[in-house]
Amino acid sequence: MTENKAQMVCEKEHLQPEEKTSRPEDSLDQMYAAMGIGSNVYAYGNSVLERLTDRFTQIDRTAEYNQLKVLGAMQACQVSEACLLGTTGYGYNDLGRDTLEQVYAKIFHTEDALVRPQITCGTHALALALMSNLRPGDELLSPVGKPYDTLEEVIGIRPSRGSLAEYGITYRQVDLLPDGSFDYENIRAGIREQTRLVTIQRSKGYQTRPSFSVAQIGELIAFVKGIKPDVICMVDNCYGEFVEVQEPSDVGADMVVGSLIKNPGGGLAPIGGYIAGKRACVENAACRLTSPGLAKEVGASLGVLKDFYQGLFLAPTVTAGALKGAIFAASLYEGLGFSVVPGSREERHDIIQAVTFGTPEGVIAFCQGIQAAAPVDSHVTPEPWDMPGYDAPVIMAAGAFVSGSSIELSADAPIKSPYAVYFQGGLTWQHAKYGILRSLQSLVDQEIVTLLKEQ
Ligand SMILES: *Cc1c(COP(=O)(O)O)cnc(C)c1O
Repeated sequence: MTENKAQMVCEKEHLQPEEKTSRPEDSLDQMYAAMGIGSNVYAYGNSVLERLTDRFTQIDRTAEYNQLKVLGAMQACQVSEACLLGTTGYGYNDLGRDTLEQVYAKIFHTEDALVRPQITCGTHALALALMSNLRPGDELLSPVGKPYDTLEEVIGIRPSRGSLAEYGITYRQVDLLPDGSFDYENIRAGIREQTRLVTIQRSKGYQTRPSFSVAQIGELIAFVKGIKPDVICMVDNCYGEFVEVQEPSDVGADMVVGSLIKNPGGGLAPIGGYIAGKRACVENAACRLTSPGLAKEVGASLGVLKDFYQGLFLAPTVTAGALKGAIFAASLYEGLGFSVVPGSREERHDIIQAVTFGTPEGVIAFCQGIQAAAPVDSHVTPEPWDMPGYDAPVIMAAGAFVSGSSIELSADAPIKSPYAVYFQGGLTWQHAKYGILRSLQSLVDQEIVTLLKEQ
């Protein structure tokens, strides 16, 4: 009967019967099979997904809100076709650059912003914000424990050429309480006469502490300002942008700082960083980035503005895709008995997902699966290697359009106990899903994970 019907359609469309023969990839499950995902992995993935509908709806709502926020800012600042062009040389009167900085300021609800391709990465943006707003004799306080690894050398926690310590800026740290909450008593004691700037890292980065919600950051800032109103509160916003409908600058942060090859670049920005905040803070940073007297007036945008604008426009949905991937990975691997941080049901404050495999073979197989799912360099096999600055070999999976971009699907892991993988990104949810299924397939193929029929 089906054949008859097909025959009829063929005749009607004057097609030869062989042209109507379905190809193996015609259905989604056949397409996954053709792309190396076995039927049991595919079925398990789908059973996990069925339970995530409500979470995904919530993420889509946040993305919808943030899409309108970004669009509204672009319209209010009258982004025009001329803004997409770039300047060379000194870059005086760079309309696109100046307008983009206004757009960032509107999105973050700050007085001003500095958004530049001359800010080379997230660490550079953070170093710039710190070095330009602190003076000799000032003290920097981190009330949330140890900052991101690369900042240790910026601050001088690990002695380094050009660190804040070399300029006579001291550093004080108050660790989180064992349950991950703020140690208010010691924070109060840590805020002193010379405390000039408080740095708060939103994302856990590669630590085991929880990431903070914008609301939690707001409480901490209110506490700090209650003790010393003129202290500058800076938030390392890396990986947190557009995860919630509010940003730390909506709850009292004087500066928010981040990288354009993470969330706000939307996968299109090929380089760059941003600092959004109080006018004086941004002015200080501009004077340091370029030169006193020149500040924001120079800095050619070259040819990157179109990608900065378009990436920012896409950033809310790209971040949503990455968040869905993180939750899917958490649910998938939690269901198989691995420990995951955050847990599959926890509220999300950034796009990073940690999965602990407990063995080197587990993390290597996972990373090899992620690499095999990449659009670029899928044919190479990542291996652990000794990287400068790390005390154990590190394996990295990244097949990105922008080198090192971690808003694209990527994973990395130090080969040491507890053998945890840090996974993030995915420019589209569909790619994140495929990458995660491919990672599981790799674990199944290497007999590290056995899927039971009923899973
Ligand atoms: C990525 C990151 C940084 C540093 O950014 P780079 O671009 O890698 O230099 C700093 N802080 C946090 C929390 C990060 O996630």
